[in-house]
Amino acid sequence: MTLWKYAASLALAVLATAGAGCNGPTYTVLPNLPPPSLPTCTPPMPSEPADNYVAPPQEPIVRHPQGRTVPPGWAPAVNEIHWRYIVIHHSDTDRGNAASFDRDHRERRGWDELGYHFVITNGHGGSDGKVEIGPRWRKQKYGAHCGNTPNNEFNEFGIGICLVGNFQNRMPSANQLDSLQRLVRFLANRYGISPQNVIGHRDAPNARTDCPGKRFHPYLNTLRKRLGD
Ligand SMILES: [Zn+2]
Repeated sequence: MTLWKYAASLALAVLATAGAGCNGPTYTVLPNLPPPSLPTCTPPMPSEPADNYVAPPQEPIVRHPQGRTVPPGWAPAVNEIHWRYIVIHHSDTDRGNAASFDRDHRERRGWDELGYHFVITNGHGGSDGKVEIGPRWRKQKYGAHCGNTPNNEFNEFGIGICLVGNFQNRMPSANQLDSLQRLVRFLANRYGISPQNVIGHRDAPNARTDCPGKRFHPYLNTLRKRLGD
């Protein structure tokens, strides 16, 4: 076919198509067509909560095994660190409390503030078994209680709990142990800390200390076992 003949046949084909369009296309209607598929969409959220809207609680209500509620302040109000360890200490003093250790840490050691996150008093300087919450915990600040570990790991990610007393030759009081167990259980559950990461200060890498005391230290095995229950 020569080029002009090809062009002429193409023009005729276009005219034929246009003619069909003028007459209107015919459609075959099929019975029982499926419903059209439309994109699904979720209804828009109301901009204001309804009158009966109840806000979720800021903190889950946690009850300790005997059914008592967890004391206020154990769950911090600010963004929490992903804690990995719980490090248990003794104060190596007969008496004291968070305020007196805070002074000691600032004045004698030159630290910014109390190095521990929690202090459990023994009846001399604070009631027996009372859990004091340090400012570091409220701020969710790294600890200053377990130095010399590689990358400062146990200060960065270790919650420091200090029991008042010297436990080289004797145990903490029953109330202190009860409070320690409740606090550790709460913290371990909240941060998913496994029992083997609940340690005494002396168990930390490079630690050169007897803390939390030779007599008390073996009790931590019992504590770890109870956490697994
Ligand atoms: Zn210690």
